[in-house]
Amino acid sequence: KVRFFSPQGEIIYSTAREETGMVNQKDYFVEVIRQGNLYSKVVNKDQLTAEGVPSSAAVAEIYVPLMFEGNFGGAVEIYVDISQRAERLRTLHHRSLLLQLALGFGLLGVIFATLSKVRDALLKREMAEAALKRANHELEDRVCERTVQLEESCRKLKEEVVERIVVQDLLSETLGVLQGEKDRIQGILRSVGDGLMVIDESDRVSMMNPAAESLLDCRFCVVGGGVPLESLVSNPGLLDYLNLVLRRAPGDGIEDFELPGLASRKVSVLRVRTSQLIGAESRVIGKILLIQDVTEERSLESMKRQFISMATHELQTPLASMIGYAELLTGECAEKFTLEERQGFCTRIHERGFALSRIVDDLVDACQVDSGQVLSIEKNLFSFSDRVQQAVSHFYFDSERHQMVIDCSEESLVVDGDGGRIEQVLGNLLSNAIKYSPQGGEIKVSVTGSDGFAKVRVADQGIGIPADQISRVFDRFYRVDTSSTAAGGIGLGLSIARYIVEAHGGQIWVESEARQGTAVSFTLPLAATKLADLSLAVG
Ligand code: ADP
Repeated sequence: KVRFFSPQGEIIYSTAREETGMVNQKDYFVEVIRQGNLYSKVVNKDQLTAEGVPSSAAVAEIYVPLMFEGNFGGAVEIYVDISQRAERLRTLHHRSLLLQLALGFGLLGVIFATLSKVRDALLKREMAEAALKRANHELEDRVCERTVQLEESCRKLKEEVVERIVVQDLLSETLGVLQGEKDRIQGILRSVGDGLMVIDESDRVSMMNPAAESLLDCRFCVVGGGVPLESLVSNPGLLDYLNLVLRRAPGDGIEDFELPGLASRKVSVLRVRTSQLIGAESRVIGKILLIQDVTEERSLESMKRQFISMATHELQTPLASMIGYAELLTGECAEKFTLEERQGFCTRIHERGFALSRIVDDLVDACQVDSGQVLSIEKNLFSFSDRVQQAVSHFYFDSERHQMVIDCSEESLVVDGDGGRIEQVLGNLLSNAIKYSPQGGEIKVSVTGSDGFAKVRVADQGIGIPADQISRVFDRFYRVDTSSTAAGGIGLGLSIARYIVEAHGGQIWVESEARQGTAVSFTLPLAATKLADLSLAVG
């Protein structure tokens, strides 16, 4: 069906002739088509068309506006029968519906399958997660358990560490004490002057102190067990002696060993004593050898013997002489001697007695000094020159071969001291001057005073003293090479003289030249008192 409309909506042509002249005043015509817009509508069979008329077939109702220079010039309406196409469309629609359904079911199936897979995966995951959680819990439990165990172990460890530290401290303290004790014992062993040697049960030397090393002239170095004695001691004689000592029972006396005199060695006499080394449970585990250097002791003993023989000789000679003169004076033949001769005998007896008393005085003084006592010194003011002259006067007639010269230019010297002791000193010096100048000669005694000191010098022209021995003449019992002097004496005079002079605050010294003579001088501090005042006081 085709219809043409005028701009007012009047049907000016229609394939359905009866409609011509009808005017379309419907809204869609006025508002849509007249405005120049296309209008279409699909109307199924028995449905109302745009004009509200039921359609006898399925049609597509299309209005096309006809525009002239922008103005609505009318419209064309076409009714196209679309029944067949609609059928086809329906069929297509059904088919597409079926397809969609099939696709939908397919999709659903896929979705179900996917979902079931996802569900399975989720289930598995949940199960895995649950298992993981369980494992996690178990792990946590085990970790907790292990932590508790670890804490316990840690606590125990700490306690052990503390205990160990305490034990360590105690140990180091004990070690320190032991080390100290060891050092002390080693120090004692090192410092002990006597040699100490320890011999173990298998007769090997297991310890030796430095003194023993030096006495036996060996070097001890122990590695592991002990060292055989023969590898230490090279001197065969000494080795035999030590073996002999070791074979003897401890305490058995054994003679000393004299080392062959080597120029380089000081030690020449050794004394070795043994004692048992007692170990745990009072078991004998070796021997201790005490090695002593008795050289000094030996030389002292020999000096003692020498001194006794000298002293005996020194005492016997004047005594014998005194007894001889006394017998002459009291014997049957006494009448035969002239008065002068008898006086001579008496003078000799007096001189010998005087010499004897000097020796006895020296001995008494030496004993006193030896026993630590101080020599008795009674101080008084006295004229020094007078005392010297008095001391010299005792010796004027002592020897005809000597000429006593006294130079006493300084007569005003006053000394505060023990006059008797000073005379004793002078007596020793004068008797030495006579003794040690056997060929005679002048013995000059000079008295001077200077710098607050009185000085006396006794010079002879005798045998003199070798330079290397001058420093030793003040030692007790020291005598310069007696074989060459052949003069008697006990080696005490000068030592006592020095003791007395020094006790007075003075000094004593020797100047000598071998075969030229000797001069012994000593000084004494001068007293502040003048001689005139002293004379007045005495007066
Ligand atoms: P001694 O009784 O032997 O004389 P001293 O102590 O008086 O003892 O003297 C020690 C040593 O000094 C003497 O033995 C002697 O060798 C030496 N001597 C002392 N005075 C003299 C001297 N005037 N001339 C040489 N030698 C002396």
